Amino acid sequence: MKILIKESQYNLLLEQNNPNIVKAYNEIVKGAKFPLGTAKDVILKAFDYIKNSSEFHTLRSMFKDKKTGYSSFEEMINEEYDRFDYDDIIKLQKKLYSIGVVLDFERGENRLGSPLFFGNVKITYDTNFKNIENVVKVNNKCTSKYPPLLKQAQDYWRKWLSSPITKQKFKKNWNVQPKNDTVGGKKVDDIFEEYFDCIDSLKLVFYDNTMRHPPGYNEIILSKAKSAYAFVTRTTPENVYVNCSMDDDDALETLIHEIQHLLYEIKPLNPSINISNVFIKPGDKKIGPKDVLGVLKNNSTTDSQYDTNSDNSENIKLNGKILGLPWTDISFWDLSVKVEIRRRIKNNNDLGYICRETEKASNIQSIRNLFGIKPGQNITPEMLKPYINNEKHNTDVSWLLLCWASNGFKDIRLFLSDINKLAFQDTKPTDNTRPV
Ligand SMILES: [Zn+2]
Repeated sequence: MKILIKESQYNLLLEQNNPNIVKAYNEIVKGAKFPLGTAKDVILKAFDYIKNSSEFHTLRSMFKDKKTGYSSFEEMINEEYDRFDYDDIIKLQKKLYSIGVVLDFERGENRLGSPLFFGNVKITYDTNFKNIENVVKVNNKCTSKYPPLLKQAQDYWRKWLSSPITKQKFKKNWNVQPKNDTVGGKKVDDIFEEYFDCIDSLKLVFYDNTMRHPPGYNEIILSKAKSAYAFVTRTTPENVYVNCSMDDDDALETLIHEIQHLLYEIKPLNPSINISNVFIKPGDKKIGPKDVLGVLKNNSTTDSQYDTNSDNSENIKLNGKILGLPWTDISFWDLSVKVEIRRRIKNNNDLGYICRETEKASNIQSIRNLFGIKPGQNITPEMLKPYINNEKHNTDVSWLLLCWASNGFKDIRLFLSDINKLAFQDTKPTDNTRPV
């Protein structure tokens, strides 16, 4: 499964940099300070700039500066709206609900039975919120976008697997003995034939976030796949499920990523241990989810403050130097991984996802396609640099970097050289991932 990362990753930057939140806040200040009472329509319209509850949460924290005349959003509403503003409160309530924010208040009524606003505003967030009205459904735009991309992804894999270098590397990684040419009792040629059969039989199944099941597949419940761009399952290996409610800028990479999972089910191109070793610094043991939890517990720094005493600070600075980037650009990923782990714990999501071998193998293959890398060519630090400093964004690169960060920022040259080695490529005597 390939999951959207943008939200957790950018939460932090958002706080300082999202111009829309600042705009919304300025409008609210204007509305609250309106010379003739309160401009409720201005306040209502300010929320046009706010897209979700997490942005609202950031906006809410801005009230601390008291520019509205109040120290909290709730206080402002309680004071600026009087009992006859019931209709305005309902409008505001509806608007906020459309972004997953629940505004509760005390109601009363006048002698004629008309409802009144009695204040006592409370704000909560609907974590399972789905604004069905705004969900993009399976439509022609989506169903016509993917078929040519699936063809490209299939061709990409056929080419990659047809390269003699790939098979040669596969044999080397699995330590295949020439005399029997088998791995796990299977002939190497048969495994490759299975790969090709799998690729040839693929078809697309479209779903959207209003559905409980993908069309025709009642046994698959979609509640977990709502934030996925696409996913595959081992029970229906001919299907690539595509989420039409998401707008995927990297759709081709996503399909390449998903196909990798299916090939991995047949037989991983590399033994998993080779993949996980890529992320681990020399002399380190593999970090499991439990260790990660321990790290979080002992480290009570807030998300918005980077602890320079972090165990990783040495490596962060080292990688900053290698890449020619300020160390804060690297430590961004340290924070991102902490935010991601917290988010996963809160939502009861699987922590293992961050570094799962099949996910990393998918990430790597997608990234190769992104950079136009052919069997035998290498990913270099220069290629990743604009993604590390957030100049560019790509989901697979982000997930690769998150696992790199969660394992303590191994020297990026070593990290990439290990990736390049495991990846069914020619091992060249000169390794261009180590700049002189
Ligand atoms: Zn995946």
